Amino acid sequence: MNIHEYQAKELLRLYGVPVAEGRAVLRAEDAKTAAAELDGPVWVVKAQIHAGGRGKGFFKEADAGSDGGVRITRTAESAAIESRRMLGRTLITHQTGAEGKLVNRIYIEEGAEIERELYLALLIDRSKSRVSFVCSTEGGMDIEQVAATQPDKIKTFAIDPAMGIQPFHGRRAATALKLEGKSIKECMSLIKNLYKLFVEKDAELLEVNPLIVTRSGHLKCLDCKMAFDSNALYRNPSILALRDESEENPKELEASKHDLSYIALDGEIGCMVNGAGLAMATMDIIKLRGFEPANFLDIGGGATREKVVEAFKIITSDTNVKGILVNIFGGIMRCDIIANGIVDAAKEVKLEVPLVVRLEGTNVEKGKKIISESGLNVIVADNLGDAATKIVATIR
Ligand code: GDP
Ligand code: MN
Repeated sequence: MNIHEYQAKELLRLYGVPVAEGRAVLRAEDAKTAAAELDGPVWVVKAQIHAGGRGKGFFKEADAGSDGGVRITRTAESAAIESRRMLGRTLITHQTGAEGKLVNRIYIEEGAEIERELYLALLIDRSKSRVSFVCSTEGGMDIEQVAATQPDKIKTFAIDPAMGIQPFHGRRAATALKLEGKSIKECMSLIKNLYKLFVEKDAELLEVNPLIVTRSGHLKCLDCKMAFDSNALYRNPSILALRDESEENPKELEASKHDLSYIALDGEIGCMVNGAGLAMATMDIIKLRGFEPANFLDIGGGATREKVVEAFKIITSDTNVKGILVNIFGGIMRCDIIANGIVDAAKEVKLEVPLVVRLEGTNVEKGKKIISESGLNVIVADNLGDAATKIVATIR
């Protein structure tokens, strides 16, 4: 689960990590008061969306102005004006896709004077099964470019969970970031506090870009992105409370309410499968036939008729879907029960795209019979390869 920058900064503040004073604005009429509560001489007005690259982004609507989603102003009055120009407008960045993201929240901050822009991130390194730090002296808006062309400018080190965070980790980061003077000590406490936050809140990613050295030689986190492990939210209610459903894919949100594992993709073949492994195999075979899956969808072991109906509704609400492939293994679940569910669901949602069904397992013959006698325009397949060939043939 992702959170907004201003929420991430609130957490940083709680853990004693240096951030600027700021105010979140959710309604245009509050912008003026919020800006006036902050000291200048510089105000930074930042669009809050769950995507990066805002500084280099642009707005779809002309009345939002030609600047990106991060604006620097010299008066509180103009900070309020910029806030109102961005609220309710659509910001497009290299991470949002062409459709962009609606800006519903603004963060106004006291501006910082930048000496150097650095990059610092914590993430879970799955190959090492450890939390790793990523450091670079080349922070700012071109970090992707640095990673691609100057990988030697990016230093990483992992934390042994049994040993935990140690002062030498802080010194290592300070060296990698080429820090001097008092900022070395600040870096040591920064590293310790970020690690503590990361572990205590079950984060998946914590990225500070840029981490800056100010004109007066202090460290400050100017931007922060945090993502948390969704499977651990049950034990982090304070993090769950930060969830902004308006930032999530509406289909994925709907699916999560029905306990379906669904991930939207941009292909043309909708998939309905039970079991994550089978779902992956189904997506693979679609790709092997030269087509793209429209989604990953695992309806789970105890797929009820209701779940099948919901799954069909979600898949068919995607206008890119030109055909649906249902691939079910009836192990615990019997194929005849699944078949009845599919027939009912197909009638209820009035399917308008071709549907190929591959069933295997307990009572498979009964299941196939139910489908072929349903009178619905459903193509029955004998195995996974056959199913893929048949669905692809209908939309070719
Ligand atoms: P992003 O583009 O979505 O990553 O947004 P950031 O918060 O990282 O802001 C983009 C850039 O705006 C930063 O790399 C800085 O160069 C600049 N910026 C952000 N806050 C300040 C500030 O307080 N003072 C100054 N001078 N520049 C800032
Ligand atoms: Mn940034």
